[in-house]
Amino acid sequence: MSALRRISDGLADKADANISKWGLQDEATLILAATEELGELAQAFLKSKHEGGQIGRITDEAKDLGALCCQIIYLLEHKSDGRGE
Ligand SMILES: [Mg+2]
Repeated sequence: MSALRRISDGLADKADANISKWGLQDEATLILAATEELGELAQAFLKSKHEGGQIGRITDEAKDLGALCCQIIYLLEHKSDGRGE
């Protein structure tokens, strides 16, 4: 398994866990949540550069954001094939 495949599988697993926990959320909720995670990613980056923050936090926030992007794509594909709204 390639490194990128391992990462994408991890994001899909995280997205599945989010859907199990929260259900299939609407676009607005997911896009706002992704925006929040993007802010957390930027904050983790800035802390790593200027305040001695851990680089691992950047990875964690990128995974949070990536999982939400998977959920957005899944939702839109789910809707476009007639099984959604
Ligand atoms: Mg986060």
